[in-house]
Amino acid sequence: MSDIIPITPLPNPAAASADGLGCHAGKDQMLDAAAKAGKSEVLAQYAADYPKGPHDQPQSMCPAFGSLRVGLRMRRNATILSGSACCVYGLTFTSHFYGARRTVGYVPFNSETLVTGKLFEDIRDAVYAEANPDKLDAIVIINLCVPTASGVPLQLLPKEINGVRVIGIDVPGFGVPTHAEAKDVLAGAMLHYARQEAMAGPVAAPRQGRSSKPTISLLGEMFPADPMIIAQMIAPMDLAVGTVVPTREWRELYAALDCKAVAAIHPFYTASVREFQAAGRPVVGSAPVGIEGTHDWLGAIGAACDVPQDKIDAARNQTLGAMRGVLASQKINGRITLSGYEGSELLVARLLIECGSDLRYVGSACPATPWNQHDAQWLQSKGVHVQFRASLEQDLAAMREFKPQLAIGTTPVVQAAKELCIPSLYFTNLISARPLMGVAGAGSLIQVVNAAMGNQARFDEMKAFFGSVGQGDEAGVWENVPVMHPDFKKEVRRQFEKKQKKRKAEEMG
Ligand code: SF4
Repeated sequence: MSDIIPITPLPNPAAASADGLGCHAGKDQMLDAAAKAGKSEVLAQYAADYPKGPHDQPQSMCPAFGSLRVGLRMRRNATILSGSACCVYGLTFTSHFYGARRTVGYVPFNSETLVTGKLFEDIRDAVYAEANPDKLDAIVIINLCVPTASGVPLQLLPKEINGVRVIGIDVPGFGVPTHAEAKDVLAGAMLHYARQEAMAGPVAAPRQGRSSKPTISLLGEMFPADPMIIAQMIAPMDLAVGTVVPTREWRELYAALDCKAVAAIHPFYTASVREFQAAGRPVVGSAPVGIEGTHDWLGAIGAACDVPQDKIDAARNQTLGAMRGVLASQKINGRITLSGYEGSELLVARLLIECGSDLRYVGSACPATPWNQHDAQWLQSKGVHVQFRASLEQDLAAMREFKPQLAIGTTPVVQAAKELCIPSLYFTNLISARPLMGVAGAGSLIQVVNAAMGNQARFDEMKAFFGSVGQGDEAGVWENVPVMHPDFKKEVRRQFEKKQKKRKAEEMG
């Protein structure tokens, strides 16, 4: 085996000293090291695909989780991580917290194996050991921050072993800003591989056979009922829902490419869109949420698929009438701020507005793309502040500024809202995990939002009972009533200021 690929010396041994740096520090050194280690091309592609904004470093979970999750959710697919043990520990923990039920592969390293290039050899051996065509269609190897910065050359792995496809990707936190976009890194790499295969010759048909109608592939992980709801909506246009990307099986990638058009429900799948466009498939942004969103989206899908106007109208009539009924009978009354990192924030925001809420701010950790441009313009026309690449600081500032009756957000936003006695909902667990499309989406969102807003009295009661207990200096577990030491604080501050002054004086020379 070892004579197939020679041992490749590490392109940038000095980068091994970058171990210990990562998402929490040292981004510039890591970027510099990666560039010197021959990763400039891939980093330039990431910079073009996932433009950074004021929020240029991950503020949420490790981005590589997005790729890992996509890999772990596929049947007959093995996913192997190459990175620092602490990163792998966190990623494995999170995977199982979200119910992976699959083994996460890991090729460990130390300074020596990293510097000598032995790590690459270990990865290659692991891939050969795993490549059993009876069990697997593909193996995914993910370079985390340190191996990427060190230039571990996954591109030199064989493209296929015993009929098992090998996909090596770099997913460093200093090159891929969010875990959402990391899903695209792997989905795009797989679509690219599958497209080459389809161009080279016949490929496997979908497990359930090819649809008799032209299909729409859906881009984005969504609630399982949503593709079915969309299928009902587009049936009058003689269209069917095809595959959802990221796919759950390798052969679904061919079916995804074999579509009439692509609906970029989640707008950040830039690399995947590139593959669909290379396959000649038109891409439509936004999604069928709310009355206006559904009206426009059905029109755009119909136009992309050359559907006659009377069939587009039939599809609109079928869905919009029922939706008007739901929205006329139920309403959300109250001010809301919304933030998240899933990429579907603008869609939820549209629906909230159509459900009657007074939405003031929507922040997304994802970037502006052509596929969310229409949603952003619609929201701005309703007076909503839309913040792409939103930072935690911006999300918190919006909450303080607009004083909402409900804050929907990420974990730290929700935590801050609770401290301020504002009812709040986790975007990822409580909003993303329910239907969003069509009548079901509107009904479900109104229900959960109104229930959360109805909790204000409970918050007030708890606040009145606990007062300021457990806040600030009194946070944590105490066996006795905390005793404050203002003199000690004053002394520490005095010493700190003295040190600062000394440092400044030294800097000035
Ligand atoms: S791999 Fe993830 S957890 Fe590890 S340093 Fe990079 S961004 Fe942080």
